[in-house]
Formats: sequence, C-alpha cells, structure tokens
Amino acid sequence: MTATLTIRNLHASVNGTDILKGVDLEVSSAETHALMGPNGAGKSTLAHVLMGHPAYEVTQGEIIFKGKDIIKLAPFERSRMGLFLAFQYPVAVPGLSVANFLRTAINAKRKALDPEDKGIPMAEFRALLKEKMDLLEMQHEFAGRFLNDGFSGGEKKRAEILQMATLQPEIAILDETDSGLDIDALQIVASGISALSGPNLGVLLITHYQRVLNFIKPDYVHILLDGRIVESGGAELAEHLEEHGYKKIRARVSDAMMEA
Ligand code: ADP
Ligand code: MG
Repeated sequence: MTATLTIRNLHASVNGTDILKGVDLEVSSAETHALMGPNGAGKSTLAHVLMGHPAYEVTQGEIIFKGKDIIKLAPFERSRMGLFLAFQYPVAVPGLSVANFLRTAINAKRKALDPEDKGIPMAEFRALLKEKMDLLEMQHEFAGRFLNDGFSGGEKKRAEILQMATLQPEIAILDETDSGLDIDALQIVASGISALSGPNLGVLLITHYQRVLNFIKPDYVHILLDGRIVESGGAELAEHLEEHGYKKIRARVSDAMMEA
C-alpha cells in the first residue's frame, strides 16, 4: 500500500520567530524528492517539524501521514507509523551500542504493531544487521561501538542510513546525509539510499548541494527559500541550480514579489 505524507500550508516558528511560511509538499512511497535550498532556508526546521521536535511550534497548516493528521503526535508515534528522520547532526549516546539501539528500536516498533510480540529473534536480528551493514560497506565491529560516540562525520551519516535500513520506514527524511562526506563515502551512502528506496520507501532528500543527485536520481526537485517552496520541477532543476547557484532563483523570486 502506498503511504503518503502531505504537507499543506505549513507555518512553523522557533522561539517566536517564523521560519516556515507556508510549505506545500507531497511525498509518497516509491518517490524520491530532493529538497534543496541555501543555508538558513528552513530545511532542517521542516525536517524537525515533520518529525515532531518539541522546540518548533506549528502555527498553521497540516501534516497528514497515511490519512491521519500527525501534528499532535509525539516523535516516537510518528516513527511507529513509518516516518523516519536521519539527522543532519546526530546525537552521541555513550554507553548505548549501535546494535542495542537498533534492536530496541525494532522491538518497540514490532510491539506497537502487535502487543504480544516477543521481539525480533536474535539470529534474525544479526542476519538483518549483517545484510544492511554489508549494503553500506560497514565493518561489522561498528555495531559494537557506542552510538555516534567519537564517530567521524561519515560514520555518523552511515549510522543514520543503517537505522533507516533496519527500521524499514515508509517515508524517510534525510537531512544533509551527503554533507561532510568524501567522494568514496558519498558514493557508498548514496548507493545504499538508492538500493533502499523503491516501491516501499519514499525519500525526502534534503541537500544543499547538487553533487549527491549525480548518484541518487530524484523524481522531483523542490527549492526552499526563506521558508517557502519557490520552485518545483524534475531532476533538471537541480542541474540548473548547479550552473547558476541560488542567486538567480532568489532574484527571480524577489522580482515576482515586487510585481505582486
Ligand atoms: P537550513 O537547514 O536550511 O540551513 P534551518 O532550518 O537550520 O535552515 O534554519 C532556518 C532558520 O531558523 C535560520 O535562520 C536559523 O538561524 C533559525 N533557527 C533554526 N533553529 C533555531 C533555534 N532552535 N533557535 C533559533 N533560531 C533557529
Ligand atoms: Mg540544515
């Protein structure tokens, strides 16, 4: 079944400052959308608001996931419904191993679906973890390390995608999962994302740079500027951006506002 995330006229603020000023966007499983925009445009704010981060206040609009308004739901409830966020800046949890974290998360989700569930059998979990780590070309010892504790930038991003791979959400929001990666790590992470995206997974790929879109072909590209999506198109929009930067779009938007 297709899962759809629909965002309508979304306004959100943080500490009383309006950041999102009317965002409309629809992402369905099987689709890959790229959301691009300059620093400070509100990309991470949108990601956090979609996941239900308590620091952000939704002041107007709707977020509908699988036909249900999720604005009042806690992050874990959204997660259980099949929504996933890979953070731009993942938090370290010393003392909690990657494997334990993932197993706990998987079990919480299973229990939400079936209160009688006894948890994923250990052998099944190990096999799943191994398969997904191999997909992301990760050393198996990585599973024993404490979550994000002392991880390099690239390791953190891989750990986020490993979470996505094992939790198997229906819609994943990836916030600058490409940033800070060298070209080899970028290729591995991107091919992992491509391998996972497909009929059962929709992706909202948030990125500042066009570079990652050489490896992950989006079906749609949207440009976020000053809290609004000012342009949407196909993959060619990202190429156009690569050539001209955000300057031209900024100028076009401000011309249009002058005329209005
Ligand atoms: P992007 O991810 O596109 O670079 P962000 O969503 O991180 O942009 O930030 C958008 C704007 O919101 C910026 O001007 C930023 O300073 C502001 N902002 C984000 N989070 C907070 C916060 N917790 N407190 C105050 N301002 C914030
Ligand atoms: Mg950001």
